[in-house]
Amino acid sequence: MEKETKYIVSACLAGLECRYDCQSKERQFVVELVQKGLATPVCPEQLGGLSTPRDPAEIVNGKVLSIKGKDVTFEYEKGASEALKIAKLTGATKALLKSKSPMCGHGEIYDGTYSGQTIKGEGVLSTLLLKNNIEIESVE
Ligand code: SF4
Repeated sequence: MEKETKYIVSACLAGLECRYDCQSKERQFVVELVQKGLATPVCPEQLGGLSTPRDPAEIVNGKVLSIKGKDVTFEYEKGASEALKIAKLTGATKALLKSKSPMCGHGEIYDGTYSGQTIKGEGVLSTLLLKNNIEIESVE
């Protein structure tokens, strides 16, 4: 029998209230993958030690800055590296990640002005996963 694909998924898509504003972005098909044992939810911002709720952050000139100007690049990189460990531990070869986030965004991220505008780019987790040959699908 062919081995089933394992995923890591943005925890907010699986219904966890881990976003900066304590909300989730639950998507039923992601919840079902978790329920079937095929996906592991990760919130790399929390894994990097950031609190919930927290100030929103965006990528500005290669650094991750909170809306108040605090540099949280270390926490983002730490959280991404912990999420990669979880992907490796669970044998995940694919990731379903929340779109536009400075951590989970793939192909398109917020532009650093907190205006809702986006630019082409990768979040901190997506950059690391791509380097490690984990395929990413962005989920709105
Ligand atoms: Fe969702 Fe990823 Fe942001 Fe966590 S870091 S709240 S999983 S988009």
